Amino acid sequence: MLGQMMNVPLVIPSLLEFAAKYHGDCEIVSKTVEGPIHRYTYVGMARRARQLANALRGLGLGEGDIVGTLAWNGYRHVELYYAVSGIGAVCHTVNPRLFVEQITYIINHAEDRYIFTDLTFVKLLEGLADKLPKVRGFVLMTDRAHMPSTTLPKALCYEELLAGQPDTFDWPVVDENSAAALCYTSGTTGNPRGVLYSHRSTVLHSMAVNFADAFALTARDAMLPVVPMFHVNAWGIPYAAPVSGCKLVMPGPHLDGPSLTSLMETEGVTITAGVPTVWLNLLAHIKETGKRPSKLDRVVIGGSACPPAMMEAFEGLGIRTIHAWGMTEMSPLGVINSPTRKTEALPAAERAAVALKQGRPLFGVDIKIVDAAGEDLPFDAVSFGSLKVHGYWICSGYFRQDPVPAHEEPGWFDTGDVATIDAEGFVKIVDRTKDVIKSGGEWISSIDLENVAIAHPAVREAAAIGRPDEKWGERPVIVAVLKPGASATAEEIRAFYRGKVGKWCEPDAVIIVESLPHTATGKLLKTELRRLYGG
Ligand code: ADP
Repeated sequence: MLGQMMNVPLVIPSLLEFAAKYHGDCEIVSKTVEGPIHRYTYVGMARRARQLANALRGLGLGEGDIVGTLAWNGYRHVELYYAVSGIGAVCHTVNPRLFVEQITYIINHAEDRYIFTDLTFVKLLEGLADKLPKVRGFVLMTDRAHMPSTTLPKALCYEELLAGQPDTFDWPVVDENSAAALCYTSGTTGNPRGVLYSHRSTVLHSMAVNFADAFALTARDAMLPVVPMFHVNAWGIPYAAPVSGCKLVMPGPHLDGPSLTSLMETEGVTITAGVPTVWLNLLAHIKETGKRPSKLDRVVIGGSACPPAMMEAFEGLGIRTIHAWGMTEMSPLGVINSPTRKTEALPAAERAAVALKQGRPLFGVDIKIVDAAGEDLPFDAVSFGSLKVHGYWICSGYFRQDPVPAHEEPGWFDTGDVATIDAEGFVKIVDRTKDVIKSGGEWISSIDLENVAIAHPAVREAAAIGRPDEKWGERPVIVAVLKPGASATAEEIRAFYRGKVGKWCEPDAVIIVESLPHTATGKLLKTELRRLYGG
């Protein structure tokens, strides 16, 4: 017997239309590439998304077509999220920080029909245009006054495209399982792989982002996503904010400490989200000026492990940190750290240790760890193994690609991370399988070693890598960058490890360098570090 409830498909335009109807006067504020601040409301955004949907139809785009974007966090980019998916097409966010060859590969592999670009990336695209045979045209996300002269073929102006279009649009009723958005993993080895999100997975993920033990967005919050809209859809924030009527504050390309703190202050930002690297700059600026954004209440930290020193620095400013773990393949939210009744009652030091873990699964995600033979391991905080996940917003394969070993076990995706899980379900990521340092049969977590280095008062950033060793297989080496004006010798930093980690985990060497290489999503580029310093 079927239930007698409405079968309403979970589709992306409903998120924005809801906000326009019930949180209509809530603002979206964007710092633009052109310079000035742009502000309007969810009503204005929905109107323009409908105009854009009409314009996209006018360009001949429809169901199943893929539309690329190279753009910062800004209102026009959000309009594209809704209009492209809303007409049944697929919004493909391209990470402009990738190598040119990867960008070319991704656009061609996805067969993007049109590319929408911020002015920042016009030059980049001009250099590629003749290698993109499937792209029918380029739309520059600006108004006529700011249109540059460009060699891009069939270059259109975004504002002209919208002008005169009706602000009403009947969103087609698409199957909730149809493709809505596409994002490629940065692929440190081999070609990037596409993850194809559906309307259903996106809407369910948006609701989960809003859970009280997740980001807990409310109609009283103002969220500034520092995480770019080309990094797993800014962790789903542009879809989740309208669900709760949360104000969105978009930083555009202005991601330095002074720009972020000043925007947070003027717009009353209460919550922000990004990878640890961006918080290094923000914290350094706050320390320099002695002023923290007055309304800022919580910071979501994910993408890489949050070092204890960073968590302490935020807590010292009265800003709560929310540690989260996920992946492009997981939309991205997997586990998130929020205290339970039990952990809240722990003594401060133990509570802090739990807070450093990556967190517990949200409803919608199931997890397990397995040994090399694929057998389940216990949730005892000690056993560590490959972390596998299952759930509503986890990918079941890669776009236009043969199945890979990560998808071998039906219903489970192998994340490529090694983790422990405790009895409460708190996950501690030990390492990425390929970054863990294997020394004499023991596994040494590069994350743990990096955390110790960063706790040294003179160290700004550090990476731990394995260096091949005849006797032990691999031995840990630390590559560190010092804080401006600070001084410490390699030997002092090495000595700092004594008593903080097991004797066999102490690094064999510390190398002090000017800067560390990062991936296109702001994480330490371990392959390059191993190439440079692993010899
Ligand atoms: P990429 O880094 O390839 O651009 P993702 O953002 O999808 O793509 O990276 C996901 C990976 O990042 C995870 O598998 C994990 O190794 C790492 N990661 C994400 N969040 C955390 C975290 N809080 N702690 C440790 N590692 C993390």
